[in-house]
Amino acid sequence: MIQEAIVFLNPPYKYAIQRKLRCSPRRCGNIFPPLELLYLASLINEKGSLEIIFTDAIADRLTLREIIDRLKKYRVRIIVFMPGFESLEEDLKTISKIKESLNKDCRVISFGYLPTLYFRDIFKAFPLVDYIIMGEPEITFKELYDAIILDNKDIRKIKGLALNQGTVPILNEARLEKLDLNCLPFPNRKLLRNNSYSDPFLKGPMTSVITSRGCPHRCVFCVDSYGHVFRRRAADNVVRELKHIVYDLGINNVRFMDDNFTADRNNLISICKGIIENKIDIAWTCLSRVDTFDKEMLAYMARAGCKAIFLGIESGSQKILDYYKKGYSVDIIKRQCRLIKEAGIDIVSWFVLGAPIETLDDIRKSLKLSLEIDSDFICLNELRPMPATDIFNKLRDHIRVSLFPFNISYAPFSLSAKEVARLRRIFYIRFYFSPKIIWKILLRFIRNPENIMFFLREFISATRLSYIEK
Ligand code: SF4
Repeated sequence: MIQEAIVFLNPPYKYAIQRKLRCSPRRCGNIFPPLELLYLASLINEKGSLEIIFTDAIADRLTLREIIDRLKKYRVRIIVFMPGFESLEEDLKTISKIKESLNKDCRVISFGYLPTLYFRDIFKAFPLVDYIIMGEPEITFKELYDAIILDNKDIRKIKGLALNQGTVPILNEARLEKLDLNCLPFPNRKLLRNNSYSDPFLKGPMTSVITSRGCPHRCVFCVDSYGHVFRRRAADNVVRELKHIVYDLGINNVRFMDDNFTADRNNLISICKGIIENKIDIAWTCLSRVDTFDKEMLAYMARAGCKAIFLGIESGSQKILDYYKKGYSVDIIKRQCRLIKEAGIDIVSWFVLGAPIETLDDIRKSLKLSLEIDSDFICLNELRPMPATDIFNKLRDHIRVSLFPFNISYAPFSLSAKEVARLRRIFYIRFYFSPKIIWKILLRFIRNPENIMFFLREFISATRLSYIEK
């Protein structure tokens, strides 16, 4: 008898993108587990009636043909996937081709930022997509899965779900309750080929962990992935997951994927103390907001294995910081970065270029600040106002959105888009060719020669490509 299966697919794409809820960047050397998808797969009982097939075609470099050949051995009942941003159309086409080649009663479930916003357009253009989960997916997905497999609930009664039925899509009642993150099982990493994942700031196989969702701040360009209410997992729950990663899976490198890992001071210190006291041998990196840590927190973070902090600095000009509603000053950025350096942790600073009021002088201030705060690496993004963000609503009349293929065209006011792209390249070159950075990078290569390939690839691609990124 042919085995029935549920497939969780991170679809193949021409670039090694990371499909995340808030963005889908491509960075040389960064291949992270598709955590959002993995959480859904982890809600399903492995001993249930369906075989769970988790396929990360990005990490495993699988082609569409290889995936179809693999799946033809099963009777696939359900396919679950989250499309990327730049790859939206391609991903939807890929899934449609897979469904066409399989049994006709296979159901396709999608979720993510763009599917939530544009479910009607997606259903119309891709009729083989059956369901779209709106927003945070776990509770709705589990109810939908049970309804399809156990036939125990009327699908029309499942909150937070859109159905592609008839000529007009159906949108069920909204799901207002938020998930208690402590109730989530740990991501089932046994479904992954864990050796496939890498972070250039960490040596050896890595995995990703999320300890909180939601951000209370309102930076105008930010994609609101899990809402503005901050929720976190208890520190002991996080520490248990880290022990499992190190002792059961033999992985010693972690990227914390929280929007702001340092948002809750007490919890952060408790997690670090748990790592130190239990002698959990991990090296890790995280994202943080500049005004949410202090000297004591950084000391704990360094002792617990933190190697680099990714900071959304955004600009060295107070005028631009205020325009983005960042809520902190250039002086605070400088003070906080000094503390990071004193703790012996690397800084990777993100800047956004191309605000409507941004001038050449503002961009000069950003370059100056990137050097002054002693960034180890920088990451420069051109402003792309994403649908439903505050800045998108403000600039709506100046933005053109194309869905298939997904593209946001926006012409900055003070500088032309071409000029912003040119200044971005110059910024990279000036930063990485400043004597201080050259010296620092040489020392880094002596300590870790593998980094040279990462640096060269990153530098070349950064000066040539544009990203869709936070
Ligand atoms: S950019 Fe960072 S701090 Fe600002 S709203 Fe987004 S997640 Fe929060």
